[in-house]
Amino acid sequence: IRPLAQADPEVDQAIAQELIRQQSTLEMIASENFAPTAVMEAQGSVLTNKYAEGYPGKRYYGGCEHVDVIEQLAIDRLKSLFGAEFANVQPHSGAQANASAMHALINAGDTIMGLNLAHGGHLTHGMRINFSGKLYKVVPYGVREDTHTIDMAEVERLALENKPQLIVAGWSAYSRHVDFAEFRRIADLVGAYLMVDMAHFAGLVAAGLHPSPLPHAHIVTSTTHKTLGGPRGGVILTNDADIAKKVNSAVFPGQQGGPLEHVIAAKAVAFKMAAEPEFQERQARVLEGSKILAQRLLQDDVAAAGISVVSGGTDVHLVLADLRNSELNGQQAEDTLHHIGITVNRNAVPFDPRPPMVSSGLRIGTPALAARGFGAEEFTEVSDIIATALIAAAATGTLDDATAVELRNRVTALADKLPLYPHLSNKGNG
Ligand code: PLP
Repeated sequence: IRPLAQADPEVDQAIAQELIRQQSTLEMIASENFAPTAVMEAQGSVLTNKYAEGYPGKRYYGGCEHVDVIEQLAIDRLKSLFGAEFANVQPHSGAQANASAMHALINAGDTIMGLNLAHGGHLTHGMRINFSGKLYKVVPYGVREDTHTIDMAEVERLALENKPQLIVAGWSAYSRHVDFAEFRRIADLVGAYLMVDMAHFAGLVAAGLHPSPLPHAHIVTSTTHKTLGGPRGGVILTNDADIAKKVNSAVFPGQQGGPLEHVIAAKAVAFKMAAEPEFQERQARVLEGSKILAQRLLQDDVAAAGISVVSGGTDVHLVLADLRNSELNGQQAEDTLHHIGITVNRNAVPFDPRPPMVSSGLRIGTPALAARGFGAEEFTEVSDIIATALIAAAATGTLDDATAVELRNRVTALADKLPLYPHLSNKGNG
């Protein structure tokens, strides 16, 4: 019954500091977002206490009458949001959703194809020491060197050569639409399942601002915390009744035990909110912001510093800055922006000459700032701050104190203009 501040002042203090960090800096990690307080409230509820192995109406534990209502709401809302026939909302994370989806459809030793990690794929799409790389034979496909877009001719050639059982389309660091219909055509050609991992762009799909994979894929996986803006977690969708059955047993008991009903409640809340007009308007600002950022990073003053944009622009919520021709590497660029209060992550770009820990790219996303209320004016300002910082750092290797202070002040002005979680600010420590 003791409040956190009394029961554990150290954790309470660290949480308070993290709130201040989130409020006072500009969050531009493309996979992050700010969950609405209603979502956090559901997740911080008594549902954390409940065991509910099984599915609504078919549980292995007593006392599930209320969690059944909640999980069914989450399922129904998710199906309606994406126009899917079946949904499983239990995966604890995106990685577990992918593990379960593969477990449902293919066997150890089978062949999968996925986007090369170095070209923007995810660990679970076949990285060597990930479960996907250990359990399955992996044939990665890549992007074209001239356009930085997925080489569909190569996908077809590799599929015909290797006859995979499953092809994964989807990405963690790629800024263009994927041709789901063409992927399905190729999958059908070789009798493979098509799995689309829409973790990154699910929020845009929900808002009708990105093509939906549902009409094309056998199975669709997603996280719920990226553009979708909900709690951390995963989901699986399909329109095929047989696949749906296999998915349910692959998630439980195949991969997981008790579902996290507190997280499922938070997912239900997030799916409800994602169907509202405010969400659509916010996703429109996400896209507007990334296009403004790409345009700024394509201007001559940035180009003169050897910096450009992978694929020459963006269709989605992120921009990949290309530092291959710059003195500045990904690590230095990430540190430079961190120093002035902008949080991003360095990322390999296709055909990156630098090692992955240093890399030649920056992945910069707009979802979290859009959640904070950013529109064209604020995105124009933050884009100019980023461009100015990168140009200055590319020239000298670091920011001089005066420039750093000036840019940090501009960041603070933006953070102050659109405060985050203002009602949480003066919570105090008990
Ligand atoms: N799939 C894609 C495309 C991702 O980018 C990520 C996370 O970065 C995941 C899956 C894994 O999600 P999680 O971190 O929830 O396991």
